[in-house]
Amino acid sequence: MQKKRSEMVETQIAARGVRDPRVLETMRAVPRHLFVPPAEVAFAYDDRPLPIGSGQTISQPYVVAFMAEQLRLTGKEKVLEIGTGSGYSTAILAALAAKVFSIEIRPELSREAKERLEKLGVKNVELRAADGYRGWPEQAPFDAILVTAAPEKVPPPLLEQLAPSGRMVIPVGAFYQELKVIHRQGGGYTEKSVLPVRFVPFVGEAEDGPPPARDPATSR
Ligand code: SAH
Repeated sequence: MQKKRSEMVETQIAARGVRDPRVLETMRAVPRHLFVPPAEVAFAYDDRPLPIGSGQTISQPYVVAFMAEQLRLTGKEKVLEIGTGSGYSTAILAALAAKVFSIEIRPELSREAKERLEKLGVKNVELRAADGYRGWPEQAPFDAILVTAAPEKVPPPLLEQLAPSGRMVIPVGAFYQELKVIHRQGGGYTEKSVLPVRFVPFVGEAEDGPPPARDPATSR
């Protein structure tokens, strides 16, 4: 598997221009085959996303590496991830930053990811099963935010929870999506599209609007 992983890094990731040595080293180290279902293990190092159950996918290795590089992590950062999924990108972020908070809307995926990360001895992560639309306000601000499901618009609470000089990487769009890098600087935000992508939809409040307010007169 180590050999397959080195090949993956050379032919799919470095060959396409990812340069950050810490990112390349991390992609070589994290055992991707332990994040996919048994039926997919043989394909774990292929150049594509794979199904992880519940209709969701683990992103293509190149896309994970590219997103991680765009966040420009040095090892000191506090990171928020929306869309834990298999926990693979969570493990990559955990190796590149100081602490990762990751939210997954599907409780079964969050539970499985937690078990995997524990087994691998990844300690600097906290997982939460919830809608990530509102971020993790108790832990904000975050030096970096990675979103791995695509909303049609960037959720405003996530912009607010970005620290000054922080970066967010997020796929935006319905069918045609662009990976965007949002940089908070000088009291504002700059945004650039860096890659056409195809992620699963960001579900929950981003799609459906806010949950109905509880009416104090009828909730008793
Ligand atoms: N980073 C994951 C990719 C998982 S795919 C990995 O490496 O495996 C994206 C994930 O986002 C799915 O698991 C999906 O359930 C989750 N998701 C979608 N909408 C969400 C929301 N509003 N809040 C939190 N997670 C969400």
